[in-house]
Amino acid sequence: MSYLVLARKYRPRNFQEMVGQEHVVQALSNALTTQRLHHAYLFTGTRGVGKTTVSRILAKSLNCQGPDGQGGITATPCGVCQACTDIDGGRFIDYTELDAASNRGVDEVQSLLEQAVYKPVQGRFKVFMIDEVHMLTNTAFNAMLKTLEEPPEYLKFVLATTDPQKVPVTVLSRCLQFNLRPMAPETVLEHLTGVLQAEQVPAEAQALKLLARAARGSMRDALSLTDQAIAFGNGALVEDGVRQMLGTVARAHVFGLIEALAAGDGKTVVETSEGLRREGLSATSTLEEMTSVLQAMAVLQAVPSRAEAAADATDPDAAETARLAARMPPDETQLLYSLCLHGRGELGLAPDEYAGLTMVLLRLLAFKPTAEKKTLNEAVRAVPPVAPAAPLAPPPGHRLPIVERPGSPTPAPAPAEATAVVAMQVRVQPPPGARDAARADAPAAPIAPSEDGDFWHATVTQLVLAEAISALARELALQSQLVARDVDQWLLRVERESLNQAATRDKLQAALLTLGHEVRLAIEIGGVVDSPARRNKLAAEARQRAAEEAIHNDPLVQSMMRDFDARIVPGTLRPV
Ligand SMILES: [Zn+2]
Repeated sequence: MSYLVLARKYRPRNFQEMVGQEHVVQALSNALTTQRLHHAYLFTGTRGVGKTTVSRILAKSLNCQGPDGQGGITATPCGVCQACTDIDGGRFIDYTELDAASNRGVDEVQSLLEQAVYKPVQGRFKVFMIDEVHMLTNTAFNAMLKTLEEPPEYLKFVLATTDPQKVPVTVLSRCLQFNLRPMAPETVLEHLTGVLQAEQVPAEAQALKLLARAARGSMRDALSLTDQAIAFGNGALVEDGVRQMLGTVARAHVFGLIEALAAGDGKTVVETSEGLRREGLSATSTLEEMTSVLQAMAVLQAVPSRAEAAADATDPDAAETARLAARMPPDETQLLYSLCLHGRGELGLAPDEYAGLTMVLLRLLAFKPTAEKKTLNEAVRAVPPVAPAAPLAPPPGHRLPIVERPGSPTPAPAPAEATAVVAMQVRVQPPPGARDAARADAPAAPIAPSEDGDFWHATVTQLVLAEAISALARELALQSQLVARDVDQWLLRVERESLNQAATRDKLQAALLTLGHEVRLAIEIGGVVDSPARRNKLAAEARQRAAEEAIHNDPLVQSMMRDFDARIVPGTLRPV
């Protein structure tokens, strides 16, 4: 079989043939039809999505003479006139492509720009196409700016880049920008199917799917991979051959792995991973395939109606995916997806690829949400039971908290096992802002009620609840004592010098204004007895004492302490 490589043979020659870039095609066609032409275009997008192709079609549209030589600017270049065929053949004198990746310097750009002063020789427009324009040096960009800003009316710039972030904003702002999207695997698959039919190359559907996925959104890559696969398969595309060529993993392995992970079956996971090594299948592709299956599973879990359709589908992959989607809880699917995705990055760092793969897969087992729950349950169950022989042991299944009365005389030393803490409660969190006040754990002295103190506490509470103050301003409000109130000035006192800052004070002042207090704040440093934070702390302590009393007076707790020598562990009680 002798033919032009597919990527060249099937390069779109007009906008209608362009696949998967409808939004760009539409906008350019409209502009060409209405003759509203910009002088500089920027096409962005990853490699192989059609930036150069769209640039050439644009050049033809601008220069097409029509089959009869009478044509004008058009959204549908004829493809047969001199201009069209010359541009397709890469010999149109007024169309210049410069690859900035290999011509980065100011000299190259300047020699291109020198051509700008001459009118087009053959066509209506000169078109300068600069590919990978972000690679140009800064001086090269600067040399280009003036021409880019005010080009002669016969000159059009087409810039293309895979990395628009690196293009100076001065250049970006002078261009009409179009983003070419990576193509969906389905779009690539559809196109490949058409191409192979036209080429009369027999192809298995699964083989084409593999190629479409491996192309990662680039039609050019899809076509060159297909070329290779045809050569590899001696003129035909069969799944096994393509798999071998791409080094991809048979889906059966992937489904098997996900199944084993869903079942928490570590043995099968490790054995499958070893099998992949023996068969020389790529660890990276394994994770990639797993990611793609897990993603499909997540979709099915979120949209169950699709799962029914998939389970009935003739595509065996779809049915298997649907089956696994039903087996694995959605949160676990999400976690596995994320671990597979991130695991790909660390394969290169592992001692060898398969060791890395095994570790990633085992991590899936270690962190499975259900495994985590199990571990917690087991941890609870694994707490050493109260010595079985001890007559004080609570009845089985009746796990009782160990309570220990603070400050009570130490009870007779219990056997070590018996003091195991079974149920642990979270330590009471100091209320926000009370952290400083809580430094000394000694109970704070009671605060004598005062009008200013009550007023300041109420005011600050209102600001905090309304979230009108944050960070340092909030801290200043909570830690300060209102010492004096004048008509238009309030004096606050704080202990910490760090809270005495103009910016912080201004913020608090502004917040007070929202409550209708139009005052200037003055701050002095000194001892604080009555601050909102102190009041909050005292209130929390009072609640704590009340809670403790309630527990100690609870008949069940009292009987536990009496019958089982139970103690309340200090600091574990928390008012609800
Ligand atoms: Zn033409």
